[in-house]
Amino acid sequence: MEDIAPGLLKKIQDDFQSEFDKSRRIEELYAKVRGGTATYREANDFAIEVGEILVKAYKNNLSSDVLPDGRMYYNIAQRILNPTMANNYFLITDVTYQVQQALNESAGIGIKPVTPELNQDRIDGISGRVSVENYDDVAWILEEPVKNFSQSIVDDSIRANAEFHAKAGLQPKIVRRLQGGCCDWCRALAGTYSYPDIPKDVYRRHERCRCTVEYNPRDGKIQNVHSKEWRNEEESDKMETRKSIGIKTEDAETPAEKERRIQGENGLGFADKIASHPKMLSAYTPKGLKASLENAGYEVKTLSRGRYMGIAFEDGGGFKVNFGGDGILQYHPEKGSHHGGAYYKISTGKGGTKHYELDGTEKDD
Ligand SMILES: [Zn+2]
Repeated sequence: MEDIAPGLLKKIQDDFQSEFDKSRRIEELYAKVRGGTATYREANDFAIEVGEILVKAYKNNLSSDVLPDGRMYYNIAQRILNPTMANNYFLITDVTYQVQQALNESAGIGIKPVTPELNQDRIDGISGRVSVENYDDVAWILEEPVKNFSQSIVDDSIRANAEFHAKAGLQPKIVRRLQGGCCDWCRALAGTYSYPDIPKDVYRRHERCRCTVEYNPRDGKIQNVHSKEWRNEEESDKMETRKSIGIKTEDAETPAEKERRIQGENGLGFADKIASHPKMLSAYTPKGLKASLENAGYEVKTLSRGRYMGIAFEDGGGFKVNFGGDGILQYHPEKGSHHGGAYYKISTGKGGTKHYELDGTEKDD
């Protein structure tokens, strides 16, 4: 039997590309991104638009008539959905990266944007659901769930960046706005939340939800925690039954895995990032920092001079790591300090040697 997947894929990709190129909406949104004025609202609009264009391309080219036995077998689904949905991920994260970069710059935060991972579980879930029956009976699965997947990439980007900023000592404020009335669940969830008091459902959306989730790090710089009563078991249960198939469980990623991912995606070593943004130090206890450095793959050593020479951190000593060629990041305990209490010291060839309070404030030497 002829393998129809490559031909179908090509047609879908061509259709997608030509609609994408023609889209006035995309053109407007790209202009805003280029101008540095796009926010997550524009990113969300962009995601909806590319989601709709992809859905249209599927619709134009897929039906029971063109599929073997009228079915989109799993291996066909995978070969068509993987590259096309990953392409949406690529386009959308390219926008969210630039949006976040502009927001960071205008807020005066020198942290690189973080890109969330591709949620392969969701693509696999959609492939699975669409392969079980006659295609025409399940074709709807390549509509709303594909749009939902596209929008969730923006939600994931906000989440990844906000969590990263929270860790760096900021207090990200997340705003969820109701769109078009939506539903009772969304109405209850709409509002403004500040880290660390963030309901995890704020990043979730059920099918056909067009509510927006927004984050501007400028707002997170204000020490202003709005905590809001929300969420009872009932609402949470409702969401469980409504959430789309394949959404990753909340705590699938361990902190160590997350650190590695963020490090890899940020293109810089963890210690380098701290060296350029010492405020990050305030997000850690010395113990937590040591653990994170180890998790990020650094060899954490004992201090090599003074009263703490060779004494393990666990026995009351300090620690240090070498990074980026000539860099040293060091923790010195309070006792015997010549710098007024426990401190961190960061030396690099470029930046010289600086001492910091445990909260990341630079000390005057
Ligand atoms: Zn909604």
